[in-house]
Amino acid sequence: MKFSKVILFFIFLIDFYNTNSQVLNIDSLKFKEKFVFTNYIKLKDTNISVENLTGKFLPKNNPNFVEADTEYAKYPLIFIREEVYIAFIKMFYAALNDTVNLKIVSCFRNFDTQRIIWESKWKGEKKVNEKVYASTIKDPVERAKLILSSSSMPGTSRHHWGTDIDINSVEVKYWDTKEGKRVYNWMKKNAIRFGFCQPYNLITSNYFGYDEELWHWSFVPLSQIYMRQYQTKVKYSDIKGFSGFETALELNIIKNYILNINMDCFFKVKY
Ligand SMILES: [Zn+2]
Repeated sequence: MKFSKVILFFIFLIDFYNTNSQVLNIDSLKFKEKFVFTNYIKLKDTNISVENLTGKFLPKNNPNFVEADTEYAKYPLIFIREEVYIAFIKMFYAALNDTVNLKIVSCFRNFDTQRIIWESKWKGEKKVNEKVYASTIKDPVERAKLILSSSSMPGTSRHHWGTDIDINSVEVKYWDTKEGKRVYNWMKKNAIRFGFCQPYNLITSNYFGYDEELWHWSFVPLSQIYMRQYQTKVKYSDIKGFSGFETALELNIIKNYILNINMDCFFKVKY
């Protein structure tokens, strides 16, 4: 056995025997054959509060979160759930081995940050998709729907969870370059082995739903727990505190946006 394999084996044993936390057996998942390193993921805390589901907290005060090192992230102060960080680092080195460079450009965003993004578009300070001012649309539901093509409502973003990352660039034009295409093809082929899926694709961007996002990847073992708990714990009365919040119910935000994701990110899990 090679030395590197011995090291990996011990990492696996440490992961496996840490019984202080809930252990998710990914063997029970539908796409189990696609997972390699993530067979046993130590999940630190899986009872998520409404505040944590809706981004109303500071990650530096949350023991489940760590700040990503700039070796792996483009900027400092990018906070991420620790389990997701561990999985990303494994994927980072696998990609590097294939001469593909991955960097996290965004992960956790709190409610207030999302509110600033949302309201700048709602009030017409910033164009939607660099094309049109949403404030020119008088009907609030239609205005919200336009903004929702590229931005989540505050309190409903997967970026509140620390389970989802944006990699390399959030600009569509980067993903049209030779390098962008190479990175995307590598992710499409390999990300699932490390537990990552692309929640927003061409299928989900139908009448409702966000536009396709080639840069946005979600760590399935954890994000599906957040998604299920969001469904049971968060009420429409919790989605408030920003301009246009009253459109959330009419747009059926939970069904049409939060649950409207790529089926690869929607496993059935048995514990
Ligand atoms: Zn994103």
